Amino acid sequence: MSKKVNVWFVGAGPGHPGLMTVRGRDILSRADVVLYDRLVNPGILTWAPSWAKLIDSGKTPGGEQMEQQEIHRLLVRYARKGMRVVRLKGGDPFVFGRGGEEAEFLTKAKIAYEVVPGVTAGIAGPAFAGIPVTHRGVSTEVIFRIGARAERSVCGKTLVGYMAVEGLAEFLKRATELGFSKKTPAGLVGRGTCRGQRVVIGTVADLAAKSKQDGVTAPAVVVVGPVVALRKKLAWWEKRPLAGKRIVLTVSANLGKGWREVFEEQGAEVWELPMTRIQSVPPRMNTVTMIRAADWLVFTSAAGVRAFPRAVCDMRNIFGKKIAVVGHSTAEVLRSIGLRADWVGHGPGSQALAQSWPGKKTERVLRLTGNVEDGELRRGLQKKGVKVLSCVIYRNVGPNNVPRPVLRALRKEGADWVVFASGTAAERFRRLIPKWKKGKPKAAVIGPATAKEARRQGWKVAAESKEASVAGVLRAMLKAESNK
Ligand code: SAH
Repeated sequence: MSKKVNVWFVGAGPGHPGLMTVRGRDILSRADVVLYDRLVNPGILTWAPSWAKLIDSGKTPGGEQMEQQEIHRLLVRYARKGMRVVRLKGGDPFVFGRGGEEAEFLTKAKIAYEVVPGVTAGIAGPAFAGIPVTHRGVSTEVIFRIGARAERSVCGKTLVGYMAVEGLAEFLKRATELGFSKKTPAGLVGRGTCRGQRVVIGTVADLAAKSKQDGVTAPAVVVVGPVVALRKKLAWWEKRPLAGKRIVLTVSANLGKGWREVFEEQGAEVWELPMTRIQSVPPRMNTVTMIRAADWLVFTSAAGVRAFPRAVCDMRNIFGKKIAVVGHSTAEVLRSIGLRADWVGHGPGSQALAQSWPGKKTERVLRLTGNVEDGELRRGLQKKGVKVLSCVIYRNVGPNNVPRPVLRALRKEGADWVVFASGTAAERFRRLIPKWKKGKPKAAVIGPATAKEARRQGWKVAAESKEASVAGVLRAMLKAESNK
């Protein structure tokens, strides 16, 4: 089941705020507590929410450097309170930053964490000075080494190899010539951070054979040194329930606000391809006339409410009208444009609104809808003898300009899940990618109507949420994953 992450080790980059990663900024913007290092550019802290507690770990009230023990204590204390704790470090958190020690401590305390790598100063500093750290024909090796003063005791070192899968045996032999014993732990990381991440662990002596057996292919990096053994305690990524899963989100940006983060938190790689866009229809005289003639105005979606101010031309046109909405979230959006609903349906769906209709038969009802609205409300009211007119004030149009390489990659590599919040999205996404070469995703959907339409469109519905929320979709998805 979903395991809550409470601590994020985030690399703030070398200094320039723009060199922090998108993911780092994303996580920072939702932090409750930020424990930041001396080297972090304070300009970056403006991305933390206004309520976040910002703690300078470089300083104690006495003005000295905060003890490492104290940092550990704070991380655990806030994480145990259920707060989202960001441990913000200059450069990369695992490069000379003691991030590894802090992660070890959290592992011991059984607190889940995530690492967001950063651009390390050892690469960025030289790059900004016009110095590439490697250069074809000039340099084949970079050494990151700690200054003599900072080194407390002589200990091991780490060798990282690029482009070393082919000829791995020779690479490892070269490592022994550089002073690594045959027993030194060594690891191969293929497709690191991606959907297909593969890790093989061995020693300098046997890694080549082991990785051949495992079939890890390029791109991959090799790591040689005692730090490789830390993986036993610090492997955090594979533990996330959706690690390595690719999820395509088709919900609209409005409805799906915050959805990406929810899946990412479980380790998923998320691609956002909204299949619906809302466009308001330009104001028309006819719309205004119909509005003025109605007794009741009915909204069956938040999109309709948002399009309304434009459609009505002048709010004084609704003087004296009564307003009904399908449910509470629509009522809330209505309040945001300065109107209060006279009647709120008891949802879900417009059927409930029709059943509980408060108006009289003689009253004229006008539905303000989109171009793909279902006729449930109209049928329900007509059954009761209430006359209903409709006016389309917004259009739900398909995606535009999904980049071709994105579609090509999806068709070729596939995905694990696709999330649909409406039948329209299921249909549009099928039309966008009618044939999959590999890995056609399973569908995770909201509600029975979407499930039915998704099946009709040829999707395998493997997770169905009863409630219209991302939490519900996630729960259904995790359940399906754990049943495998
Ligand atoms: N985790 C950090 C390094 C922390 S050690 C990283 O990955 O970059 C701190 C050292 O990093 C400093 O003493 C300095 O040598 C180097 N450093 C950090 N920021 C730097 C910057 N903006 N320019 C040059 N060196 C920097």
